[in-house]
Amino acid sequence: MNEKTNLMKGSMMRSILITGTGEAEVRSVSKPVCADGMILVRIEACGICTYEQRIFQGIHKTDYPVVSGHETAGYIEAIGKDVHSEELKVGDRVIVGVTLPCRTCYPCRTGNQQSCRHFSALKQLPGQPCIGSGGFSEYMMVLPQSVFKYYHVSPVEACLAEPLSCVIHSVETADPQFGQTAVVIGAGFMGLLHTLLCVRRGACVIAMDFNEERLELAKKLGACYTLNPGKADAAAEIRRITHGEGADLVFDTTPAAKTVETAFDYIGKLGKIMIYSGIYPNQPIQINPHRIHSDSIQLLGSANSNDRDFVRAAAMISYGLVDMKPFISGIYPAEQAKEALISSCTGKTFRNIITF
Ligand SMILES: [Zn+2]
Ligand SMILES: [Zn+2]
Repeated sequence: MNEKTNLMKGSMMRSILITGTGEAEVRSVSKPVCADGMILVRIEACGICTYEQRIFQGIHKTDYPVVSGHETAGYIEAIGKDVHSEELKVGDRVIVGVTLPCRTCYPCRTGNQQSCRHFSALKQLPGQPCIGSGGFSEYMMVLPQSVFKYYHVSPVEACLAEPLSCVIHSVETADPQFGQTAVVIGAGFMGLLHTLLCVRRGACVIAMDFNEERLELAKKLGACYTLNPGKADAAAEIRRITHGEGADLVFDTTPAAKTVETAFDYIGKLGKIMIYSGIYPNQPIQINPHRIHSDSIQLLGSANSNDRDFVRAAAMISYGLVDMKPFISGIYPAEQAKEALISSCTGKTFRNIITF
């Protein structure tokens, strides 16, 4: 039997609200009472992703306040009535994910929660004080399907399972094979996770970035080659490395529309180009449709992740197959959330984590 806990009404929790452009503050709001069929998670750590930065900077237009945050880890504090789970108990350490899809639309019902028709990071989730994905609150009340158990690592490492789950989805969609060459454009957090997972899958990674320090890290993570397009002719280098074939795979992890055009300079016959990153600002680009036909190139996209991706991200972190420590740039208590957001917006960090 599950341990069921009914919490006292009237207690409070801390929520970090983004209240306007460049503004964030901690407020004391009502703590959710665990509803029937739900799980109440005490959030311990939440990463700051690009989406939160864009809300904070006013790039994503929205009504304020917003309680953002979608990279969360904590422990189960209460299990609601009618949760018929033999798998979960109070105190279990869990990553919270896949909270935004509706779970009833066609993509959701076919196991593709990452492509939910009603996916929105700006709806109000149950128990939250306002719109937003809710991870910047001390408590989240979620469906049992939205918690994923993890082991052995700290919450600040575990909360990065969400970005890892998205990269698992991307890499698995492109499906690198042993001995193939994969160009990973961008050696930020997402690019480095792509590098790491492609290496795990037996591909020869060519990591590309203007930042030498980040390229150094890519090398440590197993990239066979690193390439600074500011210093070398990237297309010529890739042709040289691949003995004239061009790359089997190109992953674009940068937000620049133009970069997708350059991916066509790197890709070889039967190659796959993955557009992983959200494109901002979004502009039309020129591509050569005949080349897609004649070289049998596949142009792919990937966004978000599903239950299955989360299960495996949690496992990879728990088993130490992916070490998140090199990507943690700063750990900030909730009271310093504004400083954490400002620091993230400099573009010089991998991940800043907020803790409760
Ligand atoms: Zn994220
Ligand atoms: Zn859906």
